[in-house]
Amino acid sequence: MKTRAAIIERRGGVLRIEEVDLAEPRRGEVRVKVEACGICRSDLHAIDGGEDVVFPAVLGHEAAGVVDGCGAEVERLKVGDRVILSWTPACGQCPSCVRAQPQLCAGITMSTGGAGPLTWNGKGVDRFMALGAFSEYTVVPETMAIAIEGEIPATHACLIGCAVMTGYGAATKTAQVHRGETVVVIGCGGVGLAAVQGARIAGASRIFAVDPIDTRREMALAVGATDALAPSDAMEVIGTITNGGADVAVECVGRSETMQDAFALVRPGGRAVVVGLPELGDRLEIEPVLLLFEKSIKGSMYGSADPLRDFPALVSLYEERQLDLGALVAGTRPLSEINEGIAETRQCPAGRVVVTF
Ligand SMILES: [Zn+2]
Ligand SMILES: [Zn+2]
Repeated sequence: MKTRAAIIERRGGVLRIEEVDLAEPRRGEVRVKVEACGICRSDLHAIDGGEDVVFPAVLGHEAAGVVDGCGAEVERLKVGDRVILSWTPACGQCPSCVRAQPQLCAGITMSTGGAGPLTWNGKGVDRFMALGAFSEYTVVPETMAIAIEGEIPATHACLIGCAVMTGYGAATKTAQVHRGETVVVIGCGGVGLAAVQGARIAGASRIFAVDPIDTRREMALAVGATDALAPSDAMEVIGTITNGGADVAVECVGRSETMQDAFALVRPGGRAVVVGLPELGDRLEIEPVLLLFEKSIKGSMYGSADPLRDFPALVSLYEERQLDLGALVAGTRPLSEINEGIAETRQCPAGRVVVTF
């Protein structure tokens, strides 16, 4: 079929809406009519050449839509099902999947190298994270489309596919915040605001949101942070209030300096969890003697997600009004205005700019 997609032809280029060819779903695949797709910082990274992307490419990996067609042997989904796309294939067969860690699936890829169902003028088009969801339609394995129920708007549901799962899961699943614990969240974009909410829902007694931008600090307070601090104040204030460090720190920035801050901000025995995507080749400097005080630092991939279980659970939390997704939608743009949406995302809004179809 023909569909319209936002194509980027070269590093640093603008996106152009073009008519492309999308192959029919093959065995085990579904075609999804995309309804909304958030713009993630990883998309900006890909535009800027910081990701392993082969141009031309279609970006977009935080999407919700409706199943529009099924290939042979599709078992879990049917036409008309509402779905959130997942960027782990959760293949079920690699060592990580066998260990029930689909967030570490060997099949996760930034780039399909141009192979796959999408072609433009007869040439293969890469699809970022094997989803390529800045497109009216996309074809994915059924394991990458998770059925959801309820009245949740697509502009909200799509955020579960990357930012919300990543941030919420980092707090609740990777760090396993317990009731009564103190939590620091460094960086309050879409992922950080979801981490704040994860900490709140897990019952954290005090949640310190750290961000240099005051609109983001205000939003963090609106979704559950008890304290909002500029980075220059964080170390002293948090050290004093917690009497020696927080139980948990979640780093949602992706810089070695903020990762070191996260490690420094937790108490002896505390857990620092790193979510932000660092530059390749970055190095972390921590004092190893602090490890003897049982401080830990751990990475978090996709919020330790098991999308098949976690996406519907997050939708339920939204429906129960515990998880505020509306607050995370900083704005919407139709596909034709995706470049404006990308420019807005570069301004570090408090939440996500969502592309609508
Ligand atoms: Zn993302
Ligand atoms: Zn796997």
